[in-house]
Amino acid sequence: MKTITHPYQPLSGGEWIRGNLHTHTTASDGSRPLQEVVTDYARRGYGFLMISDHDVFSGSNEYDRIDPHGMVLIPGNEVTANGPHLLHVNADRLVAPDPLRQNVFTAIAAGGGFGVVNHPNWQSGFSHCPFDRMAEWVDFAGLEIYNGTIGRLDGSPYATDKWDRLLAQGRRVWGFANDDSHLPEADVELGWNVAYVRERSVDAVVEALGAGRFYASTGVEIEAIEVEGETIRVRAPNAARIVALMQTGRRFAQTDGSEIEVMFPDSASYVRFECWGTGETSAWTQPFFVEG
Ligand SMILES: [Zn+2]
Ligand SMILES: [Zn+2]
Repeated sequence: MKTITHPYQPLSGGEWIRGNLHTHTTASDGSRPLQEVVTDYARRGYGFLMISDHDVFSGSNEYDRIDPHGMVLIPGNEVTANGPHLLHVNADRLVAPDPLRQNVFTAIAAGGGFGVVNHPNWQSGFSHCPFDRMAEWVDFAGLEIYNGTIGRLDGSPYATDKWDRLLAQGRRVWGFANDDSHLPEADVELGWNVAYVRERSVDAVVEALGAGRFYASTGVEIEAIEVEGETIRVRAPNAARIVALMQTGRRFAQTDGSEIEVMFPDSASYVRFECWGTGETSAWTQPFFVEG
Protein backbone atom coordinates (compact mmCIF):
# COMPACT_ATOMS: atom_id res chain seq x y z
CA MET A 1 0.00 0.00 0.00
CA LYS A 2 1.14 3.51 -0.79
CA THR A 3 1.91 5.94 2.01
CA ILE A 4 0.13 9.24 1.62
CA THR A 5 1.65 12.24 3.35
CA HIS A 6 -0.13 15.52 3.80
CA PRO A 7 -0.18 18.53 6.10
CA TYR A 8 -3.57 17.70 7.65
CA GLN A 9 -2.50 15.41 10.43
CA PRO A 10 -5.51 14.36 12.47
CA LEU A 11 -7.21 17.67 13.07
CA SER A 12 -8.09 17.63 16.75
CA GLY A 13 -7.60 19.76 19.82
CA GLY A 14 -7.51 22.99 17.86
CA GLU A 15 -9.60 25.34 15.77
CA TRP A 16 -9.71 26.80 12.27
CA ILE A 17 -8.98 30.53 12.14
CA ARG A 18 -8.70 32.65 9.06
CA GLY A 19 -6.28 35.38 8.17
CA ASN A 20 -4.72 37.52 5.51
CA LEU A 21 -0.96 37.81 5.06
CA HIS A 22 -0.86 40.58 2.50
CA THR A 23 -2.05 43.99 3.73
CA HIS A 24 -0.87 47.52 3.00
CA THR A 25 -1.22 50.64 5.15
CA THR A 26 -0.18 54.27 4.83
CA ALA A 27 3.32 53.13 5.83
CA SER A 28 3.63 52.38 2.08
CA ASP A 29 0.94 52.75 -0.60
CA GLY A 30 -2.13 51.64 1.35
CA SER A 31 -4.89 54.18 1.85
CA ARG A 32 -5.58 53.63 5.56
CA PRO A 33 -3.47 53.85 8.71
CA LEU A 34 -2.55 50.71 10.65
CA GLN A 35 -5.21 50.90 13.37
CA GLU A 36 -8.01 51.43 10.86
CA VAL A 37 -6.93 48.42 8.79
CA VAL A 38 -6.58 46.18 11.87
CA THR A 39 -9.97 47.22 13.24
CA ASP A 40 -11.62 46.52 9.88
CA TYR A 41 -10.23 42.96 9.63
CA ALA A 42 -11.03 42.22 13.28
CA ARG A 43 -14.61 43.34 12.78
CA ARG A 44 -14.90 40.89 9.89
CA GLY A 45 -13.98 38.00 12.16
CA TYR A 46 -10.36 37.46 11.13
CA GLY A 47 -8.13 35.61 13.58
CA PHE A 48 -4.77 36.73 12.21
CA LEU A 49 -3.36 39.45 10.00
CA MET A 50 0.05 40.34 8.63
CA ILE A 51 0.93 43.87 7.56
CA SER A 52 3.14 43.67 4.49
CA ASP A 53 4.10 47.16 3.40
CA HIS A 54 6.52 47.57 0.51
CA ASP A 55 10.05 47.22 1.89
CA VAL A 56 8.84 48.44 5.28
CA PHE A 57 9.10 46.19 8.31
CA SER A 58 6.07 45.91 10.60
CA GLY A 59 6.58 44.20 13.95
CA SER A 60 6.09 44.70 17.65
CA ASN A 61 7.25 48.34 17.53
CA GLU A 62 4.24 49.14 15.40
CA TYR A 63 1.81 46.50 16.69
CA ASP A 64 2.34 47.35 20.38
CA ARG A 65 1.04 50.87 19.79
CA ILE A 66 -2.38 49.79 18.55
CA ASP A 67 -5.33 47.67 19.68
CA PRO A 68 -5.26 44.29 17.88
CA HIS A 69 -8.88 43.58 18.89
CA GLY A 70 -7.87 40.02 19.74
CA MET A 71 -6.23 39.24 16.39
CA VAL A 72 -2.81 37.64 16.10
CA LEU A 73 -0.62 40.19 14.29
CA ILE A 74 2.26 38.60 12.40
CA PRO A 75 5.43 40.61 11.75
CA GLY A 76 5.98 41.04 8.03
CA ASN A 77 7.12 42.87 4.96
CA GLU A 78 6.62 42.73 1.21
CA VAL A 79 10.06 42.54 -0.39
CA THR A 80 9.40 44.73 -3.40
CA ALA A 81 12.32 46.56 -5.05
CA ASN A 82 14.58 44.91 -7.63
CA GLY A 83 12.47 41.93 -8.67
CA PRO A 84 9.35 39.84 -8.19
CA HIS A 85 7.50 40.72 -4.98
CA LEU A 86 7.80 38.30 -2.05
CA LEU A 87 6.16 38.11 1.35
CA HIS A 88 8.43 37.85 4.35
CA VAL A 89 6.19 36.08 6.85
CA ASN A 90 7.19 36.20 10.54
CA ALA A 91 9.85 38.76 9.74
CA ASP A 92 12.52 39.30 12.37
CA ARG A 93 13.96 42.32 10.52
CA LEU A 94 13.89 44.10 7.19
CA VAL A 95 15.68 41.88 4.68
CA ALA A 96 17.41 43.84 1.90
CA PRO A 97 15.63 43.48 -1.49
CA ASP A 98 18.56 41.73 -3.16
CA PRO A 99 17.97 41.36 -6.93
CA LEU A 100 19.16 37.78 -6.45
CA ARG A 101 15.91 36.65 -4.86
CA GLN A 102 17.42 33.39 -3.68
CA ASN A 103 19.55 35.45 -1.30
CA VAL A 104 16.36 36.99 0.07
CA PHE A 105 14.76 33.58 0.69
CA THR A 106 17.93 32.31 2.34
CA ALA A 107 18.06 35.32 4.65
CA ILE A 108 14.36 34.96 5.48
CA ALA A 109 14.74 31.29 6.36
CA ALA A 110 17.81 32.02 8.51
CA GLY A 111 15.71 34.45 10.55
CA GLY A 112 12.98 31.93 11.35
CA GLY A 113 10.43 33.25 8.85
CA PHE A 114 9.29 31.98 5.47
CA GLY A 115 8.89 33.48 2.03
CA VAL A 116 5.90 33.42 -0.33
CA VAL A 117 5.97 34.40 -4.02
CA ASN A 118 3.35 37.08 -4.63
CA HIS A 119 0.87 37.48 -7.49
CA PRO A 120 2.94 35.51 -10.04
CA ASN A 121 0.48 36.17 -12.89
CA TRP A 122 0.15 39.93 -12.44
CA GLN A 123 0.84 42.19 -15.45
CA SER A 124 -0.09 42.06 -19.11
CA GLY A 125 2.25 39.20 -19.91
CA PHE A 126 1.01 37.23 -16.85
CA SER A 127 4.69 37.43 -16.05
CA HIS A 128 5.33 39.24 -12.77
CA CYS A 129 7.15 36.12 -11.61
CA PRO A 130 8.06 33.86 -14.53
CA PHE A 131 7.82 30.14 -13.84
CA ASP A 132 11.48 29.48 -14.63
CA ARG A 133 12.65 31.86 -11.93
CA MET A 134 10.38 30.30 -9.36
CA ALA A 135 11.51 26.81 -10.33
CA GLU A 136 15.15 27.74 -9.60
CA TRP A 137 14.49 29.03 -6.08
CA VAL A 138 14.54 26.91 -2.96
CA ASP A 139 13.62 27.58 0.67
CA PHE A 140 10.32 29.34 0.11
CA ALA A 141 7.01 28.10 1.49
CA GLY A 142 4.79 28.66 -1.51
CA LEU A 143 3.05 31.15 -3.74
CA GLU A 144 -0.10 33.19 -3.88
CA ILE A 145 -2.49 31.08 -5.93
CA TYR A 146 -4.99 33.89 -5.47
CA ASN A 147 -4.33 37.61 -4.95
CA GLY A 148 -7.52 39.67 -4.68
CA THR A 149 -6.13 43.00 -5.80
CA ILE A 150 -4.86 41.60 -9.08
CA GLY A 151 -8.53 41.02 -9.90
CA ARG A 152 -8.73 44.72 -10.86
CA LEU A 153 -5.35 44.85 -12.67
CA ASP A 154 -3.79 43.26 -15.76
CA GLY A 155 -3.04 39.56 -15.67
CA SER A 156 -4.76 37.01 -13.46
CA PRO A 157 -5.44 36.92 -9.72
CA TYR A 158 -4.96 33.13 -9.94
CA ALA A 159 -1.72 31.19 -10.24
CA THR A 160 -2.74 27.55 -9.85
CA ASP A 161 -1.08 26.94 -13.23
CA LYS A 162 2.37 27.74 -11.86
CA TRP A 163 1.57 25.89 -8.64
CA ASP A 164 0.70 22.69 -10.54
CA ARG A 165 3.89 22.95 -12.55
CA LEU A 166 6.00 23.24 -9.39
CA LEU A 167 4.14 20.38 -7.72
CA ALA A 168 4.56 18.23 -10.82
CA GLN A 169 8.31 18.77 -10.52
CA GLY A 170 8.14 17.28 -7.04
CA ARG A 171 8.26 20.58 -5.18
CA ARG A 172 6.37 20.72 -1.90
CA VAL A 173 5.04 24.25 -1.88
CA TRP A 174 1.81 25.63 -0.44
CA GLY A 175 -0.91 27.69 -2.09
CA PHE A 176 -1.90 30.94 -0.33
CA ALA A 177 -4.86 33.28 -0.92
CA ASN A 178 -4.46 36.92 0.12
CA ASP A 179 -6.17 40.27 -0.34
CA ASP A 180 -3.10 42.45 -1.03
CA SER A 181 -5.41 45.16 0.25
CA HIS A 182 -4.58 48.78 -0.54
CA LEU A 183 -8.10 50.26 -0.58
CA PRO A 184 -10.96 49.87 1.90
CA GLU A 185 -13.93 47.73 0.80
CA ALA A 186 -12.80 47.01 -2.79
CA ASP A 187 -9.70 45.11 -1.63
CA VAL A 188 -10.81 43.58 1.66
CA GLU A 189 -12.07 40.05 2.36
CA LEU A 190 -11.40 38.74 -1.16
CA GLY A 191 -9.08 35.84 -0.29
CA TRP A 192 -7.82 34.34 2.96
CA ASN A 193 -6.06 31.40 4.56
CA VAL A 194 -7.77 29.19 7.13
CA ALA A 195 -5.22 27.65 9.48
CA TYR A 196 -5.74 24.90 12.04
CA VAL A 197 -4.11 26.07 15.26
CA ARG A 198 -3.96 24.82 18.82
CA GLU A 199 -3.57 28.31 20.26
CA ARG A 200 -3.93 31.87 19.04
CA SER A 201 -0.33 33.05 19.00
CA VAL A 202 2.16 34.19 16.36
CA ASP A 203 4.20 31.00 16.84
CA ALA A 204 1.17 28.72 16.46
CA VAL A 205 -0.16 30.47 13.35
CA VAL A 206 3.27 30.65 11.69
CA GLU A 207 3.91 26.98 12.50
CA ALA A 208 0.56 25.92 10.96
CA LEU A 209 1.07 27.99 7.81
CA GLY A 210 4.68 26.89 7.35
CA ALA A 211 3.65 23.25 7.72
CA GLY A 212 0.76 23.66 5.25
CA ARG A 213 -1.94 22.99 7.85
CA PHE A 214 -4.33 25.43 6.20
CA TYR A 215 -6.46 25.87 3.13
CA ALA A 216 -6.88 28.89 0.89
CA SER A 217 -10.33 30.34 0.28
CA THR A 218 -12.33 33.00 -1.48
CA GLY A 219 -15.58 32.05 0.21
CA VAL A 220 -15.95 28.27 0.38
CA GLU A 221 -15.49 26.66 3.78
CA ILE A 222 -13.87 23.27 4.25
CA GLU A 223 -15.22 21.36 7.22
CA ALA A 224 -13.34 18.08 7.09
CA ILE A 225 -10.24 16.65 5.44
CA GLU A 226 -9.68 12.98 6.21
CA VAL A 227 -7.19 10.42 5.00
CA GLU A 228 -7.60 6.69 5.57
CA GLY A 229 -5.02 4.55 3.83
CA GLU A 230 -5.15 5.64 0.20
CA THR A 231 -8.57 7.23 0.49
CA ILE A 232 -8.97 10.99 0.84
CA ARG A 233 -12.26 12.60 1.83
CA VAL A 234 -13.02 16.33 1.68
CA ARG A 235 -16.23 17.97 2.88
CA ALA A 236 -17.09 21.58 2.10
CA PRO A 237 -20.68 22.42 3.13
CA ASN A 238 -21.14 25.39 0.79
CA ALA A 239 -19.41 23.88 -2.25
CA ALA A 240 -21.47 23.12 -5.35
CA ARG A 241 -18.71 21.07 -6.99
CA ILE A 242 -15.47 19.54 -5.74
CA VAL A 243 -12.73 18.66 -8.21
CA ALA A 244 -9.73 16.41 -7.56
CA LEU A 245 -6.57 17.23 -9.51
CA MET A 246 -3.19 15.57 -10.04
CA GLN A 247 -0.19 16.47 -12.19
CA THR A 248 -0.15 18.67 -14.13
CA GLY A 249 -3.46 20.19 -13.17
CA ARG A 250 -5.28 17.15 -14.58
CA ARG A 251 -8.78 16.71 -13.17
CA PHE A 252 -9.32 13.04 -12.40
CA ALA A 253 -12.51 13.10 -10.34
CA GLN A 254 -15.31 15.45 -9.47
CA THR A 255 -18.58 15.50 -7.64
CA ASP A 256 -21.49 17.92 -7.84
CA GLY A 257 -22.07 18.37 -4.16
CA SER A 258 -20.33 19.15 -0.92
CA GLU A 259 -18.34 15.95 -0.36
CA ILE A 260 -15.85 13.94 -2.39
CA GLU A 261 -14.02 10.71 -1.72
CA VAL A 262 -11.18 9.56 -3.97
CA MET A 263 -8.50 6.90 -4.03
CA PHE A 264 -5.03 8.31 -4.61
CA PRO A 265 -4.45 7.31 -8.27
CA ASP A 266 -1.52 4.97 -9.00
CA SER A 267 -0.16 7.39 -11.56
CA ALA A 268 -0.39 10.48 -9.35
CA SER A 269 2.62 12.09 -7.69
CA TYR A 270 0.35 14.52 -5.87
CA VAL A 271 -3.35 15.19 -5.45
CA ARG A 272 -5.11 18.39 -4.50
CA PHE A 273 -8.74 19.56 -4.34
CA GLU A 274 -10.61 22.62 -5.50
CA CYS A 275 -14.04 23.24 -3.95
CA TRP A 276 -16.15 25.57 -6.04
CA GLY A 277 -19.08 27.50 -4.60
CA THR A 278 -21.48 30.07 -5.94
CA GLY A 279 -20.28 33.01 -8.01
CA GLU A 280 -16.50 33.12 -8.04
CA THR A 281 -15.90 31.47 -4.69
CA SER A 282 -13.53 28.56 -4.10
CA ALA A 283 -11.43 26.77 -1.54
CA TRP A 284 -8.15 25.05 -2.34
CA THR A 285 -6.65 22.29 -0.17
CA GLN A 286 -2.93 21.89 0.06
CA PRO A 287 -1.44 18.95 -1.85
CA PHE A 288 -1.31 15.34 -0.73
CA PHE A 289 1.81 13.41 -1.71
CA VAL A 290 2.78 9.81 -2.14
CA GLU A 291 6.05 8.63 -0.59
CA GLY A 292 8.58 6.54 -2.45
ZN1 LIG B 1 3.15 43.14 -4.71
ZN1 LIG C 1 1.25 44.01 -2.00
